[in-house]
Amino acid sequence: MMEITFLGTSGSAPGKERGMPCVSLTRNGELFLFDCGEGTQMQMLKYGINGYKLKCIFLSHAHGDHIIGVAGLLRTLALNGRKEPLRIFIPRGYEHTVRSLVVFDKAVLGYDVEVSGVGQGSVYKGKDFEVFSFRLNHTIPTVGYLFRENDKLSFIKGKCEKLGIKGEMFSRLEEGKRIRVDGRSIGIRQVTLHKSGIKVAYVADTRPSANAAKAVLSADILIHESSYSSEQSGLASARKHSTSQEAATIAKRAKVKSLILTHFSTRYKSTEALEREARKVFPKTSAAYDGYTVKV
Ligand SMILES: [Zn+2]
Ligand SMILES: [Zn+2]
Repeated sequence: MMEITFLGTSGSAPGKERGMPCVSLTRNGELFLFDCGEGTQMQMLKYGINGYKLKCIFLSHAHGDHIIGVAGLLRTLALNGRKEPLRIFIPRGYEHTVRSLVVFDKAVLGYDVEVSGVGQGSVYKGKDFEVFSFRLNHTIPTVGYLFRENDKLSFIKGKCEKLGIKGEMFSRLEEGKRIRVDGRSIGIRQVTLHKSGIKVAYVADTRPSANAAKAVLSADILIHESSYSSEQSGLASARKHSTSQEAATIAKRAKVKSLILTHFSTRYKSTEALEREARKVFPKTSAAYDGYTVKV
């Protein structure tokens, strides 16, 4: 199971109730951050996200509102005695921007920080999941990320019992070998169901992007920036952001299961209108707030 927590849901500048962009994803005792705006470490404390488990930070682009939190967070992890290496991803060509946040005061962190430039494709592989990046359309090179669990095969209990499959026969099947029971040859596909892995997509600053729609196809959760309401569509287009309706159009096109809006302009005291506009296009939409947590 994955737990997703919105640590900051404002865009560009903080609001009284909203911190700078950051979404955390916890799975099997590992923590991943998508963007790391200023104050991320405070939000982690506030919402009970344990930095000790942090494996990777996936940064969408090098605008300050999305990356400045890296400087403080890395130093606090060092004070807490971190020894594990940390990996940070950023669009290719901007690695030096992240490195400057790591080294500007010559702090001795005591653990390795590996900064990698990404374009489009696979960027990180875990034991049973993979993270992909894809290009977006913003004022500087920007990427979205797709966190995808590997598909699994699960044994059909009743069928296995009926056929007399037991004990180490299961591991032999899992190794791809065929087994013989009562003279019958059985392969794994005959006694299992295919279970698709969960897919969570993070799409930060961008104009509505056909490339993103393709990359996030049939995701369980699409997190999409929603800086403006349709009334400010001119601003969205000039500043290369999306309205909530445009985010919903991408969700519909990509046939995702649910859409969560984030990265709201500070001009909105309430996000109700943005949510309402998006729901007209894609009903399974919700507007995130700081501390909003979803389990999937
Ligand atoms: Zn932004
Ligand atoms: Zn930006």
